[in-house]
Amino acid sequence: MAEAYATGYGGNTPCLEIDAAGQSIIIDAGTGIRGAGQALVARGVEQIDLLLSHTHWDHIQGFPYFPPLDEESVTVRVHGLRHSSPSLHEVFSGQQQAPFSPRPLAKVRAKLEFIEHEDGDQFHLGETKVTCRRLNHPGITAGYRVESGGHVLAYICDTDLDGDVLHVDGLDQAVDDAGWLEQLRQNARDLGHSADVMVCDTFFLPEEFEPLWGHSCPDEFLRLAAEVDAAGIWLFHHRPGRADSDMDGILERYRSAAVAEGVQLHAAREGVEVSL
Ligand SMILES: [Zn+2]
Ligand SMILES: [Zn+2]
Repeated sequence: MAEAYATGYGGNTPCLEIDAAGQSIIIDAGTGIRGAGQALVARGVEQIDLLLSHTHWDHIQGFPYFPPLDEESVTVRVHGLRHSSPSLHEVFSGQQQAPFSPRPLAKVRAKLEFIEHEDGDQFHLGETKVTCRRLNHPGITAGYRVESGGHVLAYICDTDLDGDVLHVDGLDQAVDDAGWLEQLRQNARDLGHSADVMVCDTFFLPEEFEPLWGHSCPDEFLRLAAEVDAAGIWLFHHRPGRADSDMDGILERYRSAAVAEGVQLHAAREGVEVSL
């Protein structure tokens, strides 16, 4: 049995749910999506929009175990940035087939739709406005800005805000690295502008930073939040192996910097709910 070292903050891979004016929106399909899906089924939700940041395994590995897939009355729309080859649908089919899974994607009971967006697209889910922008991470990775009822949640996870350009996958033409990097940084600013909540990754501390991994440190996100007048950040995507005491220490370490920047600082915990 594993040692109970993260029972407070939790050890699931990334998934969060937004209930925006009755619209059920899930961001990312890490292992946390199983519990989120159980709650959606219990509430009888029949329309679910999954906003996918990217297809690295920690962000899609929970999808085969998403309980709404067992419900014929449910429609799940999976949104992501355009993946020309393989397509988003093919990536999901690939992880959910023999010998990895007893149930191929084509056999799930729910109705599935895969919707690929362009960088900068804006679309509505009911009354909720969603903007997706590409971020600086290996592969094709999106961040999202979700606006509802005058409130804004920005999901800016899995991105190296201040590092070098990592990949230009999926672009139709060669790009100038410096110009493209500045565009990616501007994308993060646009997503986070005046956000009530900015959800960001906490994979690295400065002394752990690896330049080609596509993650940032809380330092960069505090600066970004201050720059774009975001009210608060939620540290998310905790580094595997962090114990509860490590996360408590990270909050303590950055508390005075957050106060100095005028940014509220929180760390996401399993099951935590925030009302805006
Ligand atoms: Zn990733
Ligand atoms: Zn990740």
